[in-house]
Amino acid sequence: MKTKKNHYQIVIVGGGLVGATLAIALDAIGIDLVVIEAFQERSNSQPSFDDRSVALSLSSLKIYQRLGLTQMINSAEPIKNIHISDQGRYGFSRLECSKLNQPQLGAVIENKILGLALMSEVRERGIEYCCPAKVVSAKKIVKNDKNVMQIELEGIKQFINCDLLILAEGSRSNLKSQLGYQTEVTDFKKSALVCNITTQIPHKNWAYERFTNNGPLALLPLSDNRMSIVWSNTSEKSKELHEMSKISFAKELEVAFGSRLGRVKKIGKRNVFPLMQLVTSKIVSDQCLLIGNTAQQLHPIAGQGLNLALRDIEALRKKIQKLCLDKESKLDSKNWLDEFENERMSDRFETIEATEALARLFSNPSTALSLSRNLLMKIMDVTPAIKEVFAMKAMGFKA
Ligand SMILES: Cc1cc2nc3c(=O)[nH]c(=O)nc-3n(C[C@H](O)[C@H](O)[C@H](O)COP(=O)(O)OP(=O)(O)OC[C@H]3O[C@@H](n4cnc5c(N)ncnc54)[C@H](O)[C@@H]3O)c2cc1C
Repeated sequence: MKTKKNHYQIVIVGGGLVGATLAIALDAIGIDLVVIEAFQERSNSQPSFDDRSVALSLSSLKIYQRLGLTQMINSAEPIKNIHISDQGRYGFSRLECSKLNQPQLGAVIENKILGLALMSEVRERGIEYCCPAKVVSAKKIVKNDKNVMQIELEGIKQFINCDLLILAEGSRSNLKSQLGYQTEVTDFKKSALVCNITTQIPHKNWAYERFTNNGPLALLPLSDNRMSIVWSNTSEKSKELHEMSKISFAKELEVAFGSRLGRVKKIGKRNVFPLMQLVTSKIVSDQCLLIGNTAQQLHPIAGQGLNLALRDIEALRKKIQKLCLDKESKLDSKNWLDEFENERMSDRFETIEATEALARLFSNPSTALSLSRNLLMKIMDVTPAIKEVFAMKAMGFKA
């Protein structure tokens, strides 16, 4: 597939959850752009719109609302309360929306449904979404006395130029290494098993985070009384859980989670994802910017990957809108990109560091660490101020 033109203000490589959302945000402020996506729009193998679900914070829901995706937000299942507990210990903590004077703490949506909503908005706005088309190389060139980024599409030898290249191609980005970005990789040597289940007792919009000796187990409320589970374990254990019969899996899950929701009645398709953290500390270079999983792939323990990317998108939209109002400023200048990187630095690194710390604290079977997190949960449960700080962060607001 070829693009319609050979020059755009912005080219976004990757039309997954982050690339498609960014395209909608930038189209809304009149940017001339194209999204280039490797997979066919409704293909089952589209890796971004898969069977997982994402928990969106309140601030993320507000961002989607501003972008006009109200119907999608209304179909997402609200998280009203969160219950945090440790397997085999008494300490637990609860975050309740009524006590925090909020209608809800966030909402959960399946990636597939979010993907469909994004693609419908992309079509409605007439955004050029070029797929299937894979970008194989990117470099800076001079064209008609102007510096531009040039990308090449696989197979058809089409070259496209732009003032700004945005890489939203997920964590397995080849282009960012081609362009010289350095990535720090942390292998947690664990995997997350993801699937949907139905339980005997309705979830009533509670989300659960349960810390087990092998790693955290999250249960998120979905529509029709389903729950999406994300269960971290050693890679061997995840493989075993993936391959065992549904009856054995239900039994293992009931032991790990306890009896709060009764028996596990239905189990959907199980998928396993290796748990790695990939962080690119510098996210801008001349006429190029990284976003979403291309900038950082986080451990899913705190459900922050997409939420952080949405805060980046919102900040970028505002920055570019301001830039376009100023006749002197140019999209291809490096100054505003450096400013953007600095402005986003504290939120990015606080989120990355807190997620990594949580992953280490709550995935470690040592008795000392287990006692500390138990104590932490007890303190949190009886100290409203600490709980509020934690809740504000979880909802995506500055505490
Ligand atoms: C188990 C699990 C649970 C999670 N839960 C949450 C949660 O509750 N809340 C939350 O906020 N986050 C969560 N996340 C994180 C969230 O899913 C990711 O942050 C998000 O999906 C990243 O989207 P992306 O668009 O950056 O990357 P991707 O989803 O990887 O999309 C990249 C896109 O780029 C395309 N592409 C790649 N290379 C090229 C190329 N060269 N040319 C053209 N196209 C290309 C791909 O086909 C793909 O469509 C979770 C992650 C996991 C693994």
